[in-house]
Amino acid sequence: MPKPGYPRSIMEFTRQFATEEQCLDYLVRCRWPDGFRCRRCGGEKSWPRPDRKAMRCAGCDLITTVTAGTAMHRSRLPLKSWMWAAYLVATDKRGVSALGLQRQLGLTRYETAYQMLQKLRTAMVAPERTQLSGVVEIDETLIGAPFRGRKDRTASDKAVVVGAVEVLPTKKSTQPGRIRLRHVATSSKPRLMAFVKDSVERGALVITDGHETYDEVEKLGYEHGIESTTMGEAQENVLKHLHMVFSNLKTWIEGTHHGGVSKKHLQRYLDEFTFRFNRRHTPQAAFQTILGIAAKMPPHTYEQVYAGEPAAPLPF
Ligand SMILES: [Zn+2]
Repeated sequence: MPKPGYPRSIMEFTRQFATEEQCLDYLVRCRWPDGFRCRRCGGEKSWPRPDRKAMRCAGCDLITTVTAGTAMHRSRLPLKSWMWAAYLVATDKRGVSALGLQRQLGLTRYETAYQMLQKLRTAMVAPERTQLSGVVEIDETLIGAPFRGRKDRTASDKAVVVGAVEVLPTKKSTQPGRIRLRHVATSSKPRLMAFVKDSVERGALVITDGHETYDEVEKLGYEHGIESTTMGEAQENVLKHLHMVFSNLKTWIEGTHHGGVSKKHLQRYLDEFTFRFNRRHTPQAAFQTILGIAAKMPPHTYEQVYAGEPAAPLPF
């Protein structure tokens, strides 16, 4: 039996996840696409226990939870709340703030919404393993004013973000493909080159502005293209896909999070933006990924992810 599909509309979603029993059934089918099987006795018959977010084996009475290894693990909130939270996070283009989630779900405490979001975001942090390829634009930008309220703000208060976007051919023009974004301490050559090496497949055509920082990409095994106004290119055509991405990123950070993103957490927001951008054509599939039920992904913590521990690749 194939895994259950994704809800394709809000109507479908409402029907599919109306009760705790339905939510549990969905999770069971995600976890055991070929049907439940008890790990203790091998029994294939079981009874749902929605109150425990679990299945009880009819043969040996063992209770197996269905939330282990997912964002919902050890949560006391109803499964329905989790389904809605994941749906909102996956399908709302602007993303959801903790306050927004608290209101939408009717939660009493802000802290509860905040914790839910943090857990759902962990799945978005899952490092994307495949590198960008083909034609790739690379550039840096400065993000926001992380230290709000300071009058003597200088450029050094802003965070440097280096980004990459695939440029895909269309019939008449080009369009953006997948992106990568990284918060770097400074825009020094070694840091930028490390980003290129990590993010872009060798042999790709790397397009940058005329800045000398990127002169070495050829040595690293890339082709190098330059788009620059000094080379006669119109300003709006210089790295236009990446500048569109940067512009959307800034709008999102300033809009959804009111510009209040600290440098400490910036990478996490970049990951969320990247996750959503790269799945903009399949938001419903992102729903399963966020809940942690898309693949057998080992649960990992924020710290592990940033310590560079490997995570299982995403299924799409
Ligand atoms: Zn059993």
